[in-house]
Amino acid sequence: MTYFRHNIEQMSGYVPGEQLIGTNIIKINSNENPYPPSPLVLAALRNLDGELLRRYPEPMAGRFRTAVSAALDLPSDWIIVGNGSDELLGVITRACTSPQRQIVCPMPTYVLYRTLAQIQDAEFVEIPYDDNYNLPLEEIIAANGAVTFIASPHSPSGTVVPLDLLDKLAAQLQSILVIDEAYVDFAAEDALELAKKHDNVIVLRTLSKGYSLAGIRLGFAVANPGLIAGLMKVKDSYNVDAIACIVGVAALQDQAHKNANAEKIKTSRATLASELQKLNFDVCPSQANFLLARSPHGNAEYLYHSLKTRGILVRYFPQPRLEDKLRITVGTDEQNAQLVKALAEIMG
Ligand SMILES: *Cc1c(COP(=O)(O)O)cnc(C)c1O
Repeated sequence: MTYFRHNIEQMSGYVPGEQLIGTNIIKINSNENPYPPSPLVLAALRNLDGELLRRYPEPMAGRFRTAVSAALDLPSDWIIVGNGSDELLGVITRACTSPQRQIVCPMPTYVLYRTLAQIQDAEFVEIPYDDNYNLPLEEIIAANGAVTFIASPHSPSGTVVPLDLLDKLAAQLQSILVIDEAYVDFAAEDALELAKKHDNVIVLRTLSKGYSLAGIRLGFAVANPGLIAGLMKVKDSYNVDAIACIVGVAALQDQAHKNANAEKIKTSRATLASELQKLNFDVCPSQANFLLARSPHGNAEYLYHSLKTRGILVRYFPQPRLEDKLRITVGTDEQNAQLVKALAEIMG
């Protein structure tokens, strides 16, 4: 006897990266930005008007939506704002999938996609990437799911799918293609043009990574007004709170702050990759703020635990094809140096 639907009873639920609290912990497991958000954000919070909290927030997060519209040079009706881009992934799943309408993902990928499929009781079709994370284009087209989720830059590898391939895929699918650009701020290119060109493409963005705002929960999606109107029907009425909205406007105003941090992280990423290679790790070419690294002895779980004992938290995925690797968020240069030192000691 259970009170839950069968699919809920069967699923185990999404397991987020551990959020240990402690000042001495080097937390490089959840791809948070190591640098603080813009001073404009902190000023906006300090100047917060209590009246803003007494009232319900704007149902479409109007002020933030307008700021996104200006930043991307797109009309507002091309934009839907979410309580983190995770919420928008859920909205898309609820709006477009069902037990008869499947979700297709090249694998491995962001684990939440599967969790959302399980909650919705939608079939989840997994199509493997090859070892170099080349997109299995023909297989994805043949599967033709109601929704195809592609993270680019990809998690957990950090690799990108070339835009011409995404363009081809969008043209061939008769269904929704979601391009999850959570890490676009650390990448060379973005797929926004594809949302303008194809009426089945949704580009997802978040303020969690590039803008150092994972704690505020704010993301948005870009697609043609027809798609956006459909998604609007599914979201909660007041899905984005008033504080997030104000903070988001301030964050978008300070592109220079975000870009400078991204440049620092990209430089640190290159340094960390070469240090890991000196320790004989295999490192995926990353355009995100993390590195997927295969340990020379394949003993990633042991390294994960040994690092944790030393107060360094990285991400370990006990899953096929990932169990010999660690996903390491690029931290400050000092944090990265401590990680490398600890790894060198552990590995003798
Ligand atoms: C971090 C991440 C998200 C979640 O972003 P939020 O806006 O914090 O919900 C979405 N997709 C991928 C691939 C991510 O890594």
